[in-house]
Amino acid sequence: MLVDAWRVLLELHETTESGACRACGPRWRRRMCSVWRVAVVYFVRHERGYSGA
Ligand SMILES: [Zn+2]
Repeated sequence: MLVDAWRVLLELHETTESGACRACGPRWRRRMCSVWRVAVVYFVRHERGYSGA
């Protein structure tokens, strides 16, 4: 369920051809937008938590 929510959110924040975030605009053109950065940190922690256990 949580993963589905992430998927929808990340679809909204998909990177366009110009490199800008579709939802946030060109502000984050050279970086992942804030939503993507949170998602990456979240999933990395999630994976580490399981592999360490
Ligand atoms: Zn965004």
